[in-house]
Amino acid sequence: MNLILLGPPGAGKGTQAKRLVDRYSLVQLSTGDMLRAEVAAGTALGRAAKQIMDAGKLVSDGTIIDMIGARIAEPAARNGVVLDGFPRTQAQAQALDAMLAARGKKIDAVIELAVDEDALVERIAGRYACARCGAGYHDLFQLPRVQGVCDVCGGASFTRRADDNAETVRDRLAVYRSQTAPILPYYEAQHLLRRVDGMQSPDTVTAAIDHILASSIPA
Ligand code: AMP
Repeated sequence: MNLILLGPPGAGKGTQAKRLVDRYSLVQLSTGDMLRAEVAAGTALGRAAKQIMDAGKLVSDGTIIDMIGARIAEPAARNGVVLDGFPRTQAQAQALDAMLAARGKKIDAVIELAVDEDALVERIAGRYACARCGAGYHDLFQLPRVQGVCDVCGGASFTRRADDNAETVRDRLAVYRSQTAPILPYYEAQHLLRRVDGMQSPDTVTAAIDHILASSIPA
């Protein structure tokens, strides 16, 4: 099964993608996570991408398509992938179809997490993650059970994304509206698009996605 999670920054794509990995034995391919790993490793790609990411703009289609192409070709992705943060442009959507078709595969469903943009700045500005295992937390909505200690791995250091500040979030939302939202009709025309209310609690969103997958995709 190959799934795409679409939605603006802060819609909950990363959270839901991690849950889908566990439930359906998929590999999560998050282009944002891949780019942040390149930045952290100080590679040439990471150095070039950092400025663009910090400005809330999109990294070039060619760079992103090459990165995803390499990961989709890995044996680990054979069982299926959940794409989070990709595709973000029409060119990426078309390149993805071609990459999958070359392997006799296709997209099975595109889940749009629909959210109220006014709530996104608060959602994004409060989020942080365990530096060791990546588990996600939020200043207002999801604190660790013990203050300063990760629920999942017991780690005690946390990180915040450089681009999760109010000003950059507004730029990222504008980029989403102008470059990514226009690919929704592409998937709608293929009858692949399903809409979920992303303003609900994470568990309710997960249940809604499960329901969609159970009813629209043969086991
Ligand atoms: P994300 O973690 O998905 O919010 O991505 C963080 C940043 O990485 C974005 O604001 C872009 O600068 C860059 N990025 C991630 N995925 C893509 C993509 N598919 N196309 C272009 N740029 C991307």
